[in-house]
Amino acid sequence: MDSTFLLTMINPVAALTFFMTFYLVWRQQPHRRYIMTWAWGYAAAAIGFGFECVNILVPAVPIWLGFNIFLPVSGWFFARGMCRRYGDAVPERLLLAILGLTVAGVFWLGFVSLSALGRGSAASIGLAVILMVGLRAIRRSRKKETLDFGIMFAILAMVFLLLARPVVSYMLEGNPPIGPLALSSFWVVSLKVLGLFGWMLFAILFLVRIADDLLADLKRQSVTDSLSGILNRRGFFAAAQPMADAAATTLPACMLILDIDHFKRINDSHGHQAGDEVIKQIAQVMQAAAPENAVVGRLGGEEFAIFLQNTAGPAARGFAESLCAALRLQHHAGIPDGSPVTVSIGVAEGHGESLDEMFQRADAALYQAKHDGRDRVQLSGPACRDPAAVASPQPMMADNAPCRSETSAARAMLG
Ligand code: GH3
Ligand code: MG
Ligand code: MG
Repeated sequence: MDSTFLLTMINPVAALTFFMTFYLVWRQQPHRRYIMTWAWGYAAAAIGFGFECVNILVPAVPIWLGFNIFLPVSGWFFARGMCRRYGDAVPERLLLAILGLTVAGVFWLGFVSLSALGRGSAASIGLAVILMVGLRAIRRSRKKETLDFGIMFAILAMVFLLLARPVVSYMLEGNPPIGPLALSSFWVVSLKVLGLFGWMLFAILFLVRIADDLLADLKRQSVTDSLSGILNRRGFFAAAQPMADAAATTLPACMLILDIDHFKRINDSHGHQAGDEVIKQIAQVMQAAAPENAVVGRLGGEEFAIFLQNTAGPAARGFAESLCAALRLQHHAGIPDGSPVTVSIGVAEGHGESLDEMFQRADAALYQAKHDGRDRVQLSGPACRDPAAVASPQPMMADNAPCRSETSAARAMLG
């Protein structure tokens, strides 16, 4: 066994290692099918490069054909994986047509026309066109990051090298003989180098893409409430903070804190599961009712918050009243219509003060709303801030508006 054989072994072993790596990564995230598709791409590459090794031991044209066919098949899997990852439908017919034409060309030039350069060129052109299908899927994806541009650039570079190799080879060495190829020829050496670096580069880029997808998922999960699907406390504060800061220089902003009334009783009377459904439903209604640029989150338990940008107190109170009335009309699975689920809402207007400060004022207003009988909206005011006022019963403030009537906005929210 000489060094040429050992050097030729590098590519299939590297491809097999990448197959195992992608397979193991896919096992951890089986819902990401594109990972396994890329794994198959490396399995096909390992077989293709394996034919190259066998060809050293048994120099025969049919064995070269195996190499010429399995490399485009590897690219076929890569392109399918890219379509899946970037949300483009896999153009099955187009890909099969390109692969079919490539295989037909390789066979024709391997057995009939007998041109080693032509056969290799057919495989290279087929592979280049197949990779362009993957590039098209990335290009059409609306959400592209720097990494995706990197993958597009790598594909373009690979396509260029695949097309340039036969031309350069022809210029340097003319048409190589159809028999066993000189192992030190440009044609053979460039193939090994391109194979190793090209497939390795794709593996690294694909693995970084997968890691980035996983991180984005974890980040999303860390700011999402798993029960209701809206932002959790951390997500709410992170999203609302820049808006609260901006309120110093623009129009005021408002913070609403909403708490379900007597939720413990709902749990006790109708079961914890019915309680969970109420939380989900209320989150949905809030999300649907809130303006597009508002931040809606579940702070924990049966407490929610809405941050309204560019909104003054009276407008926020009007919105809160509509929401309060809409929620009272809402039917909840597992809860009889005769016992409506109600909420209390505290509202605080802010002009650039810290989010914590707005939160405390909204919370004090909520406390006041609870104190005044629940199922109502309370706009933050001096009485809310005064602990003594909160501790003992107070008459309703001028801007305190219980939401006993159904508003048209409430009906609109319920559709
Ligand atoms: P108030 O009108 O004063 O707000 O009374 P309340 O009963 O709503 O408030 P309290 O704080 O006494 O009880 C809140 C209850 O919410 C207690 C807890 O078991 C329940 N809870 C908290 N998180 C969840 C949840 O995720 N699902 C369900 N089903 N219940 C929850
Ligand atoms: Mg409550
Ligand atoms: Mg509460």
